[in-house]
Amino acid sequence: LRRALERDQFHLHYQPQMCLATGSVHSVEALLRWQHPQLGAVSPAEFIPIAEDSGQILQIGEWVLRTALAQLKAWRCGGFPGLTMAVNLSAIQFRQPQLPELVSRMLAEFDLPPDSLELELTEGVAVDDPHAAVATMDQLHARGVRMSIDDFGTGYSSLSQLKRFQIFKLKIDQSFVRDLGNDINDRAIVSAIIRMAQALGMRTTAEGVETEGQLAFLREQGCDEAQGYHFSTPLPAPEVEAFMRRALH
Ligand code: C2E
Ligand code: MG
Ligand code: MG
Repeated sequence: LRRALERDQFHLHYQPQMCLATGSVHSVEALLRWQHPQLGAVSPAEFIPIAEDSGQILQIGEWVLRTALAQLKAWRCGGFPGLTMAVNLSAIQFRQPQLPELVSRMLAEFDLPPDSLELELTEGVAVDDPHAAVATMDQLHARGVRMSIDDFGTGYSSLSQLKRFQIFKLKIDQSFVRDLGNDINDRAIVSAIIRMAQALGMRTTAEGVETEGQLAFLREQGCDEAQGYHFSTPLPAPEVEAFMRRALH
């Protein structure tokens, strides 16, 4: 892992986030992939925690941000002018005091508007120091960058903190979406998250949507966006571009 960056073993896949009202792709999420010569494809769920422990997540995270923004610039210039990019951020990156500056600098480097980037945070970012987390969110928000809460409902969902967060979007965790078809509790939770987000002025994206039935329920409840294998798996840039072109027509 220490050598993976210099050996060019990382690449990004992108997964479309579908707008349920229009069926178009407003946004894609960048997902990191590590191709190891002996181990093969290693899951981010396995190597991100290791990169966090060793501190390498900072360098890797910067590479992800730069690579995703370069790709976004190419797409916005190549027929998708309104596209936005979601990038996952580790809590360790989020706690770096230089983060807002780094993000602004990179957006300027690619001449991209700040609201073309959405940083996906987890509820864990605010656990140790809620005041510092709110301050960082305020700084990013003041710079025009959007933030979403990933895997919403699975972590330390403190509603007293959520109301202070400058959050654009809640991403409903796939564990609630999976059994929407036969679990009335999951249906109640998903419906409540959507209603709460609407009342707080936040948007919602459902993660892990795999079936037409899940989609119909989400649509009926007023969920804004959906992401999942039902539409597309995460794909290399040329393939997701082809997907987006088909969705345009
Ligand atoms: P996440 O951000 O919540 O991403 C969603 C995960 O669900 C992705 O797994 C995606 O491939 C998978 N997924 C998407 N649609 C479906 C579906 O319909 N069904 C099912 N079963 N799964 C679906 P992936 O790519 O393995 O990433 C796992 C996690 O690793 C991510 O969860 C994120 O927390 C983390 N991660 C990925 N890339 C990065 C990165 O660049 N930086 C950081 N800090 N974390 C990353
Ligand atoms: Mg994510
Ligand atoms: Mg998630």
